[in-house]
Amino acid sequence: MKLKHILFPKRCRCCGDVILPWDNYCKVCIDENTYITGETCTHCGTKKEDCICKKAYLPYDRITAAYYYEGGVRRGVYLLKFYKNIRSAEAMAEDMYLSYGREGINFDYDFISFVPQTKDEQTNRGFNQAQLLANLLSVYCSIPTYNALEKLYSSKPQRSLRASFRKGNVFGIFDTRKGVEIQNKRILLVDDVRTTGATLDECAKMLKIHGADTVDVIVYACTKSIETRKKPIDKN
Ligand SMILES: [Zn+2]
Ligand SMILES: [Zn+2]
Repeated sequence: MKLKHILFPKRCRCCGDVILPWDNYCKVCIDENTYITGETCTHCGTKKEDCICKKAYLPYDRITAAYYYEGGVRRGVYLLKFYKNIRSAEAMAEDMYLSYGREGINFDYDFISFVPQTKDEQTNRGFNQAQLLANLLSVYCSIPTYNALEKLYSSKPQRSLRASFRKGNVFGIFDTRKGVEIQNKRILLVDDVRTTGATLDECAKMLKIHGADTVDVIVYACTKSIETRKKPIDKN
């Protein structure tokens, strides 16, 4: 093993645990097999066989997710959001980029945007993980990132609420930012995780109301099935 691998050990792309230099994931994360492959549902981002969304109306046009929000992926998101494990965000953005290759679709957008935070929320956390992922993804696909949305009020963390309350918690709290041209634009909206989809729905709705031609969503991870979960889960 080389000295640089001892000084700067390679870390699992999901959970951030130290791994051997020639691996990309730790054994635990490989065994959990959360990577989404094959045919997927463009409404909820899950594998076709896992989809229970019944293709209800959604404000965005399609969604792509790299992983299920489980196991090491969940640990990785937690470390990013609450321990500022910024390095793991680079691997996350790369996996989001690669998920488009898996779907056989192109990054055909005018710009990338992201789920915003209020000033207070950003001050408390120190950074917006969705903005960080958007900026990193922008480098991979050579499309500019614009801060097209603003969050008008702070809200209770979605993770603290049961699924049935989440829609009301974010209703009407986003708007488009003045000075950003939305009309007829093809926009890729970025977030770290989709659980109930209430936050992404609300953001996409505002972009569409202001004339966006296309709003596609890309997330690092999505939940397999919200209905089967008993406890509130971790999501902004
Ligand atoms: Zn891992
Ligand atoms: Zn579905």
